[in-house]
Amino acid sequence: MKIAVLPGDGIGPEIVAQAAKVLEALRSDGLKIELEYAHIGGAGYDAAGDPLPDATLKLAQQSDAVLLGAVGGYQYDTLARPLRPEQGLLRIRKGLNLFANLRPALLYPELASASTLRSEVVSGLDIMILRELTGDIYFGQPRGIRNLENGERQGFDTMLYSESEIRRVAHVGFQIAMKRNKKVCSVDKANVLDTSMLWREIVTEVAKEYPAVELSHMYVDNAAMQLVRAPKQFDVIVTGNIFGDILSDEASMLTGSIGMLPSASLDANNKGLYEPCHGSAPDIAGKNIANPLATILSVAMMMRYTFAREDIAQRIEGAVRKTLQKSLRTADIAEAGMQKVGTDAMGDAVVAAL
Ligand code: NAD
Repeated sequence: MKIAVLPGDGIGPEIVAQAAKVLEALRSDGLKIELEYAHIGGAGYDAAGDPLPDATLKLAQQSDAVLLGAVGGYQYDTLARPLRPEQGLLRIRKGLNLFANLRPALLYPELASASTLRSEVVSGLDIMILRELTGDIYFGQPRGIRNLENGERQGFDTMLYSESEIRRVAHVGFQIAMKRNKKVCSVDKANVLDTSMLWREIVTEVAKEYPAVELSHMYVDNAAMQLVRAPKQFDVIVTGNIFGDILSDEASMLTGSIGMLPSASLDANNKGLYEPCHGSAPDIAGKNIANPLATILSVAMMMRYTFAREDIAQRIEGAVRKTLQKSLRTADIAEAGMQKVGTDAMGDAVVAAL
């Protein structure tokens, strides 16, 4: 398992160090894990004048998987756009052709009261949002702002999906559902958008190859409502880039704590980039208080999706669960009566539980 490790900026190095401890513990257990570090984001700019130095992209391309912390920091906010840390992230996703973005919204029963929704609505929640990541209105051409004859300006973007783009992400959705509760809900806006009509047609076609999976379709406006009304009705949601962007943020808040949420972005061969959903949290960087669990849970996803080691994925998730059961909490998820621990101590506790 050759893993490129890109800590990035802010709390990135602190949380990645905890995930690396988990990987090192697995290595001393006999797994053949090779870690190689490189810079990305502001750290890439500082080291090589580029948020995605050539050496970093090359390392990522040559690795089986990439573990990333986060990018961004106040000191980079005034740089020209191509030099900003976030460009490093966009470029590495594109450079590795990562079209399938997986964001689980899983609520550990121990944290049910952290959600803003009533605990009976969310406790036991376990849904997976699959967002297409490289197409749609975010990349479609033409786009721009033009001057009209009447003197006013007009902004425009183009929503685009080709059959092959829809088909490949649909396959990923059905394959994930096969490993879960065998339900896929495809979210679109087929009552209004032609792109969505094609989306629905192709997803329905792909479904025929997965007779064990139950497919349903839902309009995006209804899906936004159902996610807060009765989120447990969902197993896997598959959707396009813009709808997925919005719905996955909505779903992430069902669990109440951004420090708990991992993500995976996969290419056609299950090579993946794994990172927490949160950013570099410059407000708490260097204080040893960031929650490392989202990053550690991203390693679990790496074991599941890139290395097909469900056993190890469950072992890591089990260790996180055990740590929460021991009432250890970082500041972001702390509640009265719990033992507050720092980033390092949380990482150590997960390794001990592992
Ligand atoms: P953020 O996710 O970094 O922080 C939002 C809030 O959540 C902050 O109060 C922060 O302290 C808290 N938080 C985040 N992660 C936490 C953790 N693990 N433990 C405890 N608390 C945590 O979002 P932001 O403040 O909007 O952005 C900060 C920087 O991160 C910006 O430069 C932004 O561009 C960048 N960013 C990067 C990514 C990424 O690398 N994938 C994603 C989002 C934002």
